[in-house]
Amino acid sequence: MDELSTQDVIITAALPYAYDDLHLGHVASTHLPPDILYRYLKLKGTKVIQVCASDDFGTPILIAAEKQGKNPSEYVAGWNVRFKEDLGRLGIVYDLFDRTSSPENVELVQRFFTKLNENGYIFVSEINQFYCEYDLKFLPDRYVKGKCPYCGTEEQYSDVCENCGRTLQPGQILNPHCSI
Ligand SMILES: [Zn+2]
Ligand SMILES: [Zn+2]
Repeated sequence: MDELSTQDVIITAALPYAYDDLHLGHVASTHLPPDILYRYLKLKGTKVIQVCASDDFGTPILIAAEKQGKNPSEYVAGWNVRFKEDLGRLGIVYDLFDRTSSPENVELVQRFFTKLNENGYIFVSEINQFYCEYDLKFLPDRYVKGKCPYCGTEEQYSDVCENCGRTLQPGQILNPHCSI
């Protein structure tokens, strides 16, 4: 640990998705451990900042916002405020608790993407994916349910069976249906 005291330190933690409440598991596994390190380094006199954010992107967020009749950006903004309040009540205060949809972050991510693309690390590929004709959208694995081809358990996610523990390949699930 000693070498840390001679450097500036940035601490971060896994970003919570902006569509559901934080629970004690998030605190115990994700937000409390870095906060302990943060306080320790501060006491030692190290220059340290602690940053985190709510993750505003992803299909589950779109679906949750739709269900509540809100537009996605106002929906995620509400969760960002709530996360900060909840963590703050536990004494966990980030120097910056941003949002992945902030203009700064969008610009940064696009800079990485452009660089990777320019250097040939991103390529076009064909994949098979389920499409719901009712919701008019392609569905991630987690939004398709069906019957496990190994043990026959109904209502399993299309990527894993929670009964027999087997991982399923795309298209393996029997009687696939949209879970929305
Ligand atoms: Zn559907
Ligand atoms: Zn199974």
